[in-house]
Amino acid sequence: MGFSTDAIHAGQIPDPTTGAIMTPVYQTSTYVQDELGKHKGYEYARTHNLTRAALEKNVATLEKGKFGFAFGSGMAATSALAVFFKTGYHVIVSDNVYGGTFRYFDKVVKNWGVKFSWVDTTNPQNVKDAITPETKMIFIETPTNPILNISDIEAIGKIAKNAGAMLVVDNTFMSPYLQSPLTLGADIVLHSATKYLGGHSDVVLGMLLTSSEEIAERLAFMQNSSGMIPGPWDSWLVLRSTKTLALRMRAHCENAQKIAEFLDSHPKVEKVFYPGLESHPQHELAKKQMRGFGGMVTLEMGSVENAKKFLDNVKIFALAESLGGVESLISHPVSMTHASVPKEERLKFGLTDGIVRLSVGVEDLEDLIEDLENALSNV
Ligand SMILES: *Cc1c(COP(=O)(O)O)cnc(C)c1O
Repeated sequence: MGFSTDAIHAGQIPDPTTGAIMTPVYQTSTYVQDELGKHKGYEYARTHNLTRAALEKNVATLEKGKFGFAFGSGMAATSALAVFFKTGYHVIVSDNVYGGTFRYFDKVVKNWGVKFSWVDTTNPQNVKDAITPETKMIFIETPTNPILNISDIEAIGKIAKNAGAMLVVDNTFMSPYLQSPLTLGADIVLHSATKYLGGHSDVVLGMLLTSSEEIAERLAFMQNSSGMIPGPWDSWLVLRSTKTLALRMRAHCENAQKIAEFLDSHPKVEKVFYPGLESHPQHELAKKQMRGFGGMVTLEMGSVENAKKFLDNVKIFALAESLGGVESLISHPVSMTHASVPKEERLKFGLTDGIVRLSVGVEDLEDLIEDLENALSNV
């Protein structure tokens, strides 16, 4: 099936009781059993919830995987990876990952005696060089937040396979519409469904997807034993949103490309980071492993003062953390999303004080450009 057909139908069947075309919100904690030892496959809602199961099947299909697991947030999904960690294990992570991912690995998991190497994964050789006999996992984010560095999933997948390590790819920025890491050698795909999968800035949810039965078994165990599940309403909201994922992503890409080009030629903007620009250092790789360049555009304003003037003068772009919703957002990563990353760490991957990040929404392009142009005239 094509992507949109799957997005609208996968994992969903008309409700057997009424024929309702939409999967109901099964707002229940328990299920009545027919007799002792005989039930309908549902016993307790932490373990089984049909609304959540429909979402898991739906996104697994979109990611070209077999199994999906939903969690209470993207970070809960990241936390569930702990089921694979033991004292002494070594994990290689992109040096420019989501701030919360860095914080969880560095401030929580490190205390258990798990070792981490923070590596510039845009060069696969760096990953290869960091491998030790204890390396059990390679965790990459591509494109990264907010610099939009791109790592070669296929090349790193091969390195992981040779080392006997699993490859986890945070696919939040691309969504399954634009990038399919499982088909390029990833073992697990991670999503903050709070972003593009949810798409309307009204829900916090996370997901892990895989094609491996062995990995799925352990994730199912972790999901149930840790209890880090999302509620049925939140699962339903994301399930409703994936139906329009293709439409939204096409609109995000179209607007973002035009805005990146506009900013690139604007004298007040020092530099624009967008995979769809030929000036992007991994533009060729982006064309190869992505089906579009996404809705995130990052720019360098030269100083925190310039950044502030720009941020304070936009009207349609709302000053807020998060991304991936239909409405355009603007943020200052150094003081917002990446406040927990030490200065010397962030400067290593180019996250300077003048960096501003746009999550380009699906409003009318002319309005967005006018808003940016007006704000830049105040800088
Ligand atoms: C937001 C985000 C996360 C964390 O997800 P939450 O739903 O906020 O817990 C992880 N990775 C990336 C790339 C994100 O943007």
